Amino acid sequence: MKWMRRIMLLIVLMPILLIMILVLILARDSLDMNNSTIDKPATISPLVESYRETVQEIAKENGMEDYVDLILSVMQVESAGTGNDPMQASESQYNEKFPREPNAIMDPIYSIEVGIKDLKNCLKQAGVKAIDDFENIKVALGSYNFGNGFIEWLRKNYDGKWSLEAATVFSSMMAEKMGWTAYGDPPYANKVLNYYSQYSFICGDGDFIMPLKDYVVTSAFGPRDLDGFHYGLDIAGGYGSYIYAPADAKVHKVSRNCMPDGGFYGNYCPLHDFASGAGNYVQLEVKYKDKILYMIFMHMSDVFVEEGQEIKKGRAIGAQGQSGNSTGSHLHIEIHQGCDSCLSTQTGLIDPSKLLQKKEQSK
Ligand SMILES: [Zn+2]
Repeated sequence: MKWMRRIMLLIVLMPILLIMILVLILARDSLDMNNSTIDKPATISPLVESYRETVQEIAKENGMEDYVDLILSVMQVESAGTGNDPMQASESQYNEKFPREPNAIMDPIYSIEVGIKDLKNCLKQAGVKAIDDFENIKVALGSYNFGNGFIEWLRKNYDGKWSLEAATVFSSMMAEKMGWTAYGDPPYANKVLNYYSQYSFICGDGDFIMPLKDYVVTSAFGPRDLDGFHYGLDIAGGYGSYIYAPADAKVHKVSRNCMPDGGFYGNYCPLHDFASGAGNYVQLEVKYKDKILYMIFMHMSDVFVEEGQEIKKGRAIGAQGQSGNSTGSHLHIEIHQGCDSCLSTQTGLIDPSKLLQKKEQSK
């Protein structure tokens, strides 16, 4: 009767086993779900991103070149890049062409001009000292949303410090004064910073080195005619040139099975990979100012490091090549914050030239 006992045991144990399997599956699913929500930074939409070049030009004319990401974050919250007044700047004192009433500006470029001038004035009034002077930037943003009187009022009543409470009090006070149902948007500064803080930690302060010693830029980051948008920076220093780690890092992923110089347009080696077409590549995980950055270096001829390896800044990680989807020997560098599998998307996307290049000593 031994087999009977075994069957009985199985019958008793089966439901317990099934429940355990179920619990495991559920636990794994919820883990996956957590992973997909954690660290996904709020990113500027492609429509707003398409204004980057224009914003850069106008910002430069106004001495605001350091604040391009802030301007784009404002645009994101104001309009998500839609309409003829993407900066919602028609009520600004700098609008001299169109009536000073909501949505009156009919020209997106003019909206950007007025918006930048207004924001510049707000930053100045709020005493903003640097691109990461968040406390004063919040005050400036409050002023961009509420208008000029806000900063004065904040100084008198809240020691000049922005808080959601202060913004809410100001908003209801003004609504009452104007006889309106609502005045401005109290959490506005936080909404903008939600986007801006994804970028503002990038100072180009020389913490990172360029991965090639001598190079030319063969294709810049940003909008381009070839394919609409270039998600990385292409540099070339000659076939076989060593590629160096820009910072201390952990080697997150490598791939090394493509022909070192067999690349061509439409070559998707390595196939069945999140970075299909990247050729031989190294992806580094870099911790920087409390953020995690994933940097990928593509189209290599040779890879010198292994997954999981901790490496120091300046260590050779591979050599420039022409592997994968590449028409000539070059290095494609692409950086995403908080996401290791977001290639060719805007998610956490960072302009490598901002991070890797040393800031010019202009000011
Ligand atoms: Zn590229």
